[in-house]
Amino acid sequence: MCGCCVLLFFFFKQKTAYEMLRSRVGAEMCIRDSQEVMQNQLRLLSTTDPLTGAYNRRYFFQAAADLITRARPLPSVLMMIDVDWFKKVNDTRGHMAGDQVLKQLVQVLLANLRRTDLLARMGGEEFVILLPRTSLADGLDIAARLHRVTQTALFETDAGWVDITISIGLVAVQPQELLTLDGHIRRADQAMYGAKEAGRNQVHLWEEGTSRMVGPD
Ligand code: GH3
Ligand code: MG
Ligand code: MG
Repeated sequence: MCGCCVLLFFFFKQKTAYEMLRSRVGAEMCIRDSQEVMQNQLRLLSTTDPLTGAYNRRYFFQAAADLITRARPLPSVLMMIDVDWFKKVNDTRGHMAGDQVLKQLVQVLLANLRRTDLLARMGGEEFVILLPRTSLADGLDIAARLHRVTQTALFETDAGWVDITISIGLVAVQPQELLTLDGHIRRADQAMYGAKEAGRNQVHLWEEGTSRMVGPD
């Protein structure tokens, strides 16, 4: 083989090896990208409620205790929300319309919360909200706003417009309080049931052994 041919032979051999390497790196990057997409999708599935897109109960329990701890020495506020007479919505408009209402309710609530607030679907037509670094006075204002905007909103469904009301129970999470997250949720729940027993469509604040109506004004 002449010198020129030897040079050409090595040139093409190198080029082929380079191209093979390049396509292998490309394929590996592709696999890594799709693994990352899959991991993100799995993370999303494990933390969010598939119907409404709100965080799920599991994620709430993971995140809320940490947020309360990090908020210290500032207080936080915890809220339970339950849609009033929701069974009637399903019975009169159908389950699909009920689903559409729940989806839109989450959007209405989120639009009236801050980016730092944590909203999750506890199950059914029941939601929990943590307002970290929030005084009781601000928490009461936010609860009143959520109650008002939900009452005035019209929810569009395939079976026509639907209006709903909600009952809210809230509790102040004081920085010196040693109660667990479960304990605070139980208190907010008690206040929410206080609102139900008092006739629904109200905001109730948990107080030792009872709950007090604090809204609407
Ligand atoms: P209350 O004011 O006492 O809360 O009355 P309610 O009718 O809202 O309460 P109840 O517990 O009797 O009924 C809750 C209803 O919520 C019944 C159930 O079918 C409905 N529900 C729960 N989850 C979903 C859901 O994902 N989609 C729809 N469409 N309905 C749901
Ligand atoms: Mg209900
Ligand atoms: Mg309920």
